[in-house]
Amino acid sequence: MVKKAIHYNVIQNILQHYECPDTCKAECCRNGRVHIFEHEFNLLKENDHERTKDIRSDVLYPALYIMNNPCSFLNQTNRCDTYKRRPTVCGMYPFKVNNSGTSLGLQPCPLGFMIIKDISSWATDTISKAEIPAAEKVEKLMQWEISLESYAIEASEFHSRESLQEMQIPYDELEMLSMFLLSKNALKKVPDISDVQEKHCSI
Ligand code: SF4
Ligand code: SF4
Repeated sequence: MVKKAIHYNVIQNILQHYECPDTCKAECCRNGRVHIFEHEFNLLKENDHERTKDIRSDVLYPALYIMNNPCSFLNQTNRCDTYKRRPTVCGMYPFKVNNSGTSLGLQPCPLGFMIIKDISSWATDTISKAEIPAAEKVEKLMQWEISLESYAIEASEFHSRESLQEMQIPYDELEMLSMFLLSKNALKKVPDISDVQEKHCSI
C-alpha cells in the first residue's frame, strides 16, 4: 500500500511537467473504461447522487464500479467537475496499474506519447554516450527508433482504437524519469502542481 502511494506521488511529479493538448477533448473521460473502487463510488455518490445514479458495479469484477461513457462528471468544457475528489485511477492516467507487480503501463494517448518521446530521447541520449561496442550501440538505438515509431502509430490511431499497446515502465525507471524531468526543467519555471492538475482532465 505504501509502495503504491509512493508510485502515485512519483506519477504526480512526472505529470506536473506536461499538459494535455487542446486537440484532445478529454478522450479518456469520454471513452475510457474507468474502474473505481467501491469507497470511491460511495464518496462520489455522497457528494452528487444524481450523477452517480447510473454507475454500476462491473459484472466481471463486482468489487469495482465502472464510470459512465462519457463520464457523468465531465462538463461541457471537458473539465472534471469532481476534480479534487476524482478517483485514484483518474489522477494517474495515462499511467495505469497492471498486474506485473514490477512496472506501470503508460498509454500512448496524446499526453502519454509526449512522455514516451521524452523517455525515448533520454534513453537514446544515454545509449549514445555509453561506452559500449559500436554494433551494440547501433542495435539499441535502432530498437528505440522502431519502438517510438510503433507508439507514434498507436497515438495517431488513439481515437479509433479499443485498446492501446502500453509502454511498460519499471518502478525504478519511473523514479529516474521523475528526477530527470525535474533536473531538465529546473531552470525553467515549473508550474504550480495544482494549476497543471486542474488542466489535466484525465482518467
Ligand atoms: S490524458 Fe486524457 S485528456 Fe489528456 S491527452 Fe490523454 S486522453 Fe487526452
Ligand atoms: S477525471 Fe473526472 S471526468 Fe474524468 S473520468 Fe475521472 S471523474 Fe470522470
